[in-house]
Parts: sequence; C-alpha cells; structure tokens
Amino acid sequence: MTEQPSPRQTLIGKRVAVLDQGWIELQDMMGDDLAIVNAARVSFLGESKGSERDKKLLFYLLEHRHTSPFEQVEFRFRVRAPLVVWWQWVRHRTWHVNAQSGRYTPFEEGDFYVPAAWRLQAADNKQASEGELTGPAADALTEALREHYERSYALYRQALQAGVARELARMFLPGFAVYYTWVVKVDAHNLMHFLRLRMAPDAQYEIRQYALALYEHFFKPALPWTAEAFETFVMPEFSRPD
Ligand SMILES: Cc1cc2nc3c(=O)[nH]c(=O)nc-3n(C[C@H](O)[C@H](O)[C@H](O)COP(=O)(O)OP(=O)(O)OC[C@H]3O[C@@H](n4cnc5c(N)ncnc54)[C@H](O)[C@@H]3O)c2cc1C
Repeated sequence: MTEQPSPRQTLIGKRVAVLDQGWIELQDMMGDDLAIVNAARVSFLGESKGSERDKKLLFYLLEHRHTSPFEQVEFRFRVRAPLVVWWQWVRHRTWHVNAQSGRYTPFEEGDFYVPAAWRLQAADNKQASEGELTGPAADALTEALREHYERSYALYRQALQAGVARELARMFLPGFAVYYTWVVKVDAHNLMHFLRLRMAPDAQYEIRQYALALYEHFFKPALPWTAEAFETFVMPEFSRPD
C-alpha cells in the first residue's frame, strides 16, 4: 500500500495568488495537530492516545485558552503584497519578518496594486468601506491610477538614470500601492490571533484576502483539527465571503 503524503509534503512550495499580482508561498513548516497534543501531554510525559482522544484534547486546549502547545507548530511564508497590506501586517509583533530592500533592489515597472473595484467610504464607520463605485466613473479612476503609476515610475527611472540613490529615487513611487516581497515566520497560536483579527469583516479588504488565503490554503490543510477548533471556539462567527 502506498503511503499518503503528509500535509507538510503537499504544502511546502505551494503558492497561491492574492489580489492582482500578489501571492503567498509556504516555504517551510514544523509540526502538526499531533505535535500540539503531544506537547500538551508532556505535562505528564504521555503521548498519543488515539485519534478520538487526541482531537478531544486539542479542542479542550483551545476552548480553555491553554494556548502554548499551539506555539510548537511554526510556518514560514514568502509573501508578495502591496505596502498597505505590509504596513498593517507588521503591527503583529509576534511575527518574525525579513523584507525586500528598496535601497538594494530596484522596483520594476508595473509593481503596483490596481484595485479590482473602487469601494466607497462607509457612512457610519470612518475606518470602513461599503458598496462600490460603478460605471464610467470607476473606469476613469482606474485609468487615472494606471497613468499615475506610469508617471511615477518614469520619474523614478529618471532619478535613477541621473545617478540618484535607490533609497531616495523611490520617493517618486506611490508608497501604499507598491508591491514588496517578504519572508515571515509565525507559530500557530499567533497565526490564529492574526487570522481572527484580519479575516474579520472589519479588516481592510486587501489584508483580509491574504488572511483568508493563509487560512484556507495553508492553515486548514496543515492543521485540520486546530482549524475546526478555531472555527468552534475562536471565530464562531467566521463565514467565508462569497
Ligand atoms: C480592524 C483593525 C483596525 C486597526 N486600526 C488601527 C489604527 O487605526 N491605528 C493603529 O495604530 N493600529 C490599528 N490596528 C492595529 C492594532 O491596534 C494592533 O496593533 C494589531 O491588530 C496587532 O494586534 P496585537 O497587538 O494584538 O497583535 P501582536 O502584536 O501579534 O500581539 C499578540 C498579542 O501578544 C501580546 N503582546 C504582544 N506584544 C506585546 C507587548 N509589547 N506588550 C504587551 N502585550 C503584548 C498581546 O496580548 C497581543 O494581543 C488595527 C487593527 C485592526 C484589526
């Protein structure tokens, strides 16, 4: 009988697309649901007691906020996302982060995020959006944004060609929109904290897409029991957007 590949084997190297030209790739991971259970059982030097009891223990741990065993599982991702996402992401201090350097690597033409829709300012929440601008007004804004990026990039190139340092020439680039690549590492406990905040409907749409992709494509297949417990105790209100 051929052995089933482990989640680790199938997930490492997997890359999923996010937004217009972003992505998330799993570079490495350590541990699984059983590692969490076994870490908890070290308290009395025990190990697996069969799937049913193991899963029950894992649910007990999360329900009662006995969270440190979840820190035994780690993920390392490579992420490409616009700076507006990066800026919100790095507020999560429990992640370990290394980023591309705009001082070292020149930006390429087209390294800019073009939103698929122009969301409108929410009437009763100063930090949120609701609904979309449609029709010719929306098309005109998209066109204007593309022209703005082209113009900015041309000025950036002009400065570089004049010998200006990359660290200064980048002042011409539209900061929030520029795509960056970084490597991030996090444990399952702190990833759940990030997911709870950033998959929520009040998170900005762009970072929400990254959080949803992390959850659906990596967290859930890597840790199926933990994901079930997460949806039961941590985020019972979670519903996938259409
Ligand atoms: C919808 C939304 C809107 C937001 N709006 C704003 C905004 O307008 N302005 C703004 O500045 N930020 C804003 N934030 C960011 C927010 O304030 C947090 O910085 C961010 O969500 C990270 O959360 P955290 O500190 O819990 O996570 P992490 O930094 O990952 O920390 C995880 C947990 O570890 C503990 N911890 C970590 N570091 C420390 C520490 N030094 N001391 C004590 N405990 C610590 C805390 O329990 C914390 O909850 C917003 C976030 C969201 C989700």
